[in-house]
Amino acid sequence: MPAKSQIATSDVAETLIRKTGARVTSARVQILKILLNSERALSHNEIETRLGRNNAIDRVTVYRVLEWLTDSGVAHKLTDPDRVWRFNVSAKGGNHPHFVCTCCKGVFCLENAGAPRAPKLPGSFRATQVELTVHGLCSDCSASGHSPSSHNRARRRAG
Ligand SMILES: [Zn+2]
Ligand SMILES: [Zn+2]
Repeated sequence: MPAKSQIATSDVAETLIRKTGARVTSARVQILKILLNSERALSHNEIETRLGRNNAIDRVTVYRVLEWLTDSGVAHKLTDPDRVWRFNVSAKGGNHPHFVCTCCKGVFCLENAGAPRAPKLPGSFRATQVELTVHGLCSDCSASGHSPSSHNRARRRAG
């Protein structure tokens, strides 16, 4: 799987937080750093796991920090196929399509795919937001030879 161009340091996270004008706290830096360094969008539980068992950040703080990151526009959240909220940070910002792997349920930001465009709309309709999610197999799953579960019909020879 292609990693994000480089490993984000605490400095990168601190700079992003400062840009919002908010206070830089250890919890915000640590959680933002985890999101910056993850290729795929992470759930609350995954973020807690990555923080490690010995961290001083409790569950409520994780929720609050994620809420703040989302509200301030640093991170964005989306739901995965199991309807679990997942969070990610887009280095480039802006609207972008997402990719959901039907095998591992991974959710990825397609930051280089360009902003999704609205299809042709009827006469006086006006689009205010366009969200595009592509379903399929991520690089890991297609490399290991899985077939998309939503089309996982047993292949039988006609005969
Ligand atoms: Zn996958
Ligand atoms: Zn995204």
